[in-house]
This record gives sequence, C-alpha cells and structure tokens, in this order.
Amino acid sequence: MKKNYIECQCGTPEHTLRFVWEEGTDWPEMYVEVCLVQYYGFFKRLWYGLKYIFGYKSKYGYGHFDETLLGYHQVKELKDLCDKWLETHTKEPATRDEEIRFAEIQVKMCNRELEKATERLLKLKENSLRG
Ligand SMILES: [Zn+2]
Repeated sequence: MKKNYIECQCGTPEHTLRFVWEEGTDWPEMYVEVCLVQYYGFFKRLWYGLKYIFGYKSKYGYGHFDETLLGYHQVKELKDLCDKWLETHTKEPATRDEEIRFAEIQVKMCNRELEKATERLLKLKENSLRG
C-alpha cells in the first residue's frame, strides 16, 4: 500500500491529507483521508466524551477520520485542477529564511522612511517657529 502525506501549510497535524493507494495492482481507486476532529468548548467535549464512552459512533460509523474515494477520473480531475492552479501560481513561495530576510529589508526601509519623515517634520516645526 502506497501512502503519501500532504501537510497543511499551517502545519497543524490534523489538517494533513493522506493519499492511499495500492501499488502494483489494478486497484482503481485512491483514498484521500482527512481528520474530522473539531475542537469545541469543555462541555461539548465532555458530551462527546460521554457519547464515546457509551460506544456512540457517527451515523456513518466512522470515527475521527473519513476519506474521499477517488477513481481514475477523479484523480485525473484532481491532477487537472492542480495543473490549472500551478499555471496561474508560477512563482515558487519563498523559504522561511528568504521571508525573514525580506521582512528585515522592509523594516529597514520603513525605519529609513520614518527617519526622513521625522526630519521633515522637525524642519517644518523649526520653520513655523521662526515665522
Ligand atoms: Zn491547516
């Protein structure tokens, strides 16, 4: 069984998508699994806990995870969708280090602009005091 994981951009493990398929067979489907767990307040969680203790299952009989079953046409549709998305999003995202460097440059530019604006304001105040 082949398993591939795509982690959510936000890094939350519960948002990870798991793609599962049989390798080396004619198995015609791919499973896309996702965590269904949501976090609620204390009493809601207590209620769910009590239901769990007494053996409750969702009306579909699943637990915390569910899956979307993709056949050949759905996998092709997903591929086409990804290809289409990639056509309009051609720029590779920056790495964390590049993002940090870019943010540092922006801060420096803002500081320079702030210094210039402060100098201009001081000159204007000086000029208005002179009359
Ligand atoms: Zn996420």
